[in-house]
Amino acid sequence: MSATKIIHSIPSDPLTGAISVPVYQTSTFVQEAPGVNKGFDYARSNNPTRQVLQDVVAKLEGGDAAFAFATGLAAIDAVLKLLSAGDEIIAVDDIYGGAYRLFTHVYEKLGVKVNYVDTTDAENVAKVISSKTKLVWIESPTNPTLKVSDIKTISEIAKSVNALLVVDNTFASPIAQQPISLGADIIIHSGTKYIGGHSDLVAGLVITKAQELSEKLKFIQNASGGILGPWDCFLTIKGIETLEIRYKEQCKNAFAVAAFLTNHEAVEEVYYPGLVSHKNHEIAKHQQNGLFGGIVSFTLKNDTQDAANEFVTNTEYFKLAESLGGVKSLLCHPPQMTHASIPREKRLQSGIKDSLIRLSCGIEEVQDLISDLEQAFTKVSHLKPKEYVKS
Ligand SMILES: *Cc1c(COP(=O)(O)O)cnc(C)c1O
Repeated sequence: MSATKIIHSIPSDPLTGAISVPVYQTSTFVQEAPGVNKGFDYARSNNPTRQVLQDVVAKLEGGDAAFAFATGLAAIDAVLKLLSAGDEIIAVDDIYGGAYRLFTHVYEKLGVKVNYVDTTDAENVAKVISSKTKLVWIESPTNPTLKVSDIKTISEIAKSVNALLVVDNTFASPIAQQPISLGADIIIHSGTKYIGGHSDLVAGLVITKAQELSEKLKFIQNASGGILGPWDCFLTIKGIETLEIRYKEQCKNAFAVAAFLTNHEAVEEVYYPGLVSHKNHEIAKHQQNGLFGGIVSFTLKNDTQDAANEFVTNTEYFKLAESLGGVKSLLCHPPQMTHASIPREKRLQSGIKDSLIRLSCGIEEVQDLISDLEQAFTKVSHLKPKEYVKS
């Protein structure tokens, strides 16, 4: 969707003409007679600020409807409530850690079985799918090694057994990738990341392709109640106004940062789907409108947590923090932060080496970001000259 269309999909207030969407900070709505109202009765069921956000997001993803939740995980939880005991999920093997925790420690207990496979090869999905499979769950690109799966091919495999394809589109954002147009039935976003874009809120979104699913999700949203409050809906709408310009700038910065890292003597490997050397580059190029995102991960030749530690504590503009997608650049060390709960052996299996560092490029001047990384490398090498030597 073009920036013009996105910006003008956000309506001015029909009641007052306010050009910015008002925050309807209210719990209930006065009725003329029982059941006679202006379309709103109670703020869990609906709220005008949330309604605007949901309508805008549905358009942004080309879906039938969208639903706003308190966090990305609350959005994922709502989709899982479509299932019953005995149902099965096929999920991408390096799924977001919070989703893994919810699947294994909450839903498996309730009788839902999850098969984790490497979905970068669609054949792996075809091999394990059965009539019990109700959801196929992928993220593309994944966190933090940015693996890309072929959404269209996997959607065809899911359809062969009437399973729904769910795509967590958080990393690509609706600017780079439109999973519904590629065959997905449901899209998830952590609105906390690119869509909010300013590291000032947590939010989750579910977008449905067809009306029947929309009705089920609307029921679950109201029945379970994990909604996004009006103030955070307002902030998310503000984020969407600049999503296109922000995301494209972040992609440009990330591309330049990835090129810089590729040429740096202390770096072992760079993970960025925009690089021809990335193992899923071809499908990423195809599927993501030539936009590869603002996240770049890399490992050091001195592949130790100590070296990574020194690096991540020596940057100035890249702030050490979990999360991603905001206008301010962030970095993190997944083995000690976002992926610390995964045992080391399992981490190594999914390609998360001890020195893996994840960068989330913001919208600062790219030369400043590169200089920042450059000076951090110097500090690490100053402390430990052997870091430049491949072990
Ligand atoms: C952050 C994230 C989530 C969870 O979102 P929260 O808003 O933190 O609950 C889900 N999926 C992906 C890919 C994420 O990066």
